[in-house]
Amino acid sequence: MSVYNFCAGPATLPPAVMQKAQQEFLDWQGIGVSVMEISHRSDPFLALAKQSEERLRRLMNIPEEYTVLFMHGGGRGQFSAVPLNLHQDNAPAVYCHSGIWSQGAFDEACKFTNAVSIDIRNDSESEFSVVPVAEWKLPDTASYIHYCPNETIDGIELFDVPKHPTAPIIADMSSNILSREINVSDFDLIYAGAQKNIGPSGLCIVIVKKTLLEREGLPRPGILDYALETKQGSMFNTPPTFAWYLANEVFAWIEEQGGVKAVEELNKKKATLLYDFIDSSDFYSNKVASGSRSLMNVPFWLNDESLNSVFLSKASESGLLALEGHRSVGGMRASIYNAMPYEGVVALVEFMARFAQEHS
Ligand code: PMP
Repeated sequence: MSVYNFCAGPATLPPAVMQKAQQEFLDWQGIGVSVMEISHRSDPFLALAKQSEERLRRLMNIPEEYTVLFMHGGGRGQFSAVPLNLHQDNAPAVYCHSGIWSQGAFDEACKFTNAVSIDIRNDSESEFSVVPVAEWKLPDTASYIHYCPNETIDGIELFDVPKHPTAPIIADMSSNILSREINVSDFDLIYAGAQKNIGPSGLCIVIVKKTLLEREGLPRPGILDYALETKQGSMFNTPPTFAWYLANEVFAWIEEQGGVKAVEELNKKKATLLYDFIDSSDFYSNKVASGSRSLMNVPFWLNDESLNSVFLSKASESGLLALEGHRSVGGMRASIYNAMPYEGVVALVEFMARFAQEHS
């Protein structure tokens, strides 16, 4: 039986990458030891670091004016790093609230800086959606504008990028980086915890415009300091080397798939299959409006919630794992990141149809 893992993160990784890692586990590049057991400052590891950055730059078409960092502390580490590096005395940090993760970023920023929150949700009783970016009420001055293009828990994705005449645009792409083409130049800083579309948890990718490194910000730990980490090649302290190695392999895998454009097409096909099925059913529902639906995280509800636990146990028995919704919202959630094959979504839809028939 095939097993498909719909976990929101740490999430399923491409089997080809895992098999390669397994083969190389005890002997990387013929050195006779694991990549985990060598110095991060050794030539082979420095070559890996360079290769991974080059691959990511190619995949995302990252211009030269941006530095790419491989940092510690996951997505939440950046909830602190962003205000600590980018704080300005006379301008508030603006956080656009679209769901649970943007709220988390705002809460953390309030510990360090003068942060204000702007509500960009536009919910009605029957439908959840987001205000179009052109209508966001952004102040004239801000030290930066932070938003979360993909709310992993709420299943809400923002496809347009906000603009501001002076303030840098910061995006938490933890759950949708590399899932579809974006124009990096529309952003001033992008960060993404690795454990959805990149690799193991703990690692965080940061893509930051070099001009932002000149900001004084606030006193901060060295490992969260963008300018210092840039100077040190993301090696101010020992980086998470195994996670970095796996990220490099995932980047290579995405290139083999045909790059981000090819992955995006497949992601749209997977998401369409699942949303269309949910919409056509009177057994399941998803309240997110069609233009705000995440391509990566699909929450759904059984109309009869008393069937939740039997749904989950039957799904597990059928090899469909980790479909339980986030504890804060309940229901179900299928995370269908890059590494989830189309067949996995087909298997899920077939199971859901069967379950509905048996319990209607
Ligand atoms: N931002 C988003 C959008 C996330 O989905 C998550 C984790 N699911 C985080 C931030 C926090 O990441 P971490 O657990 O790596 O700190």
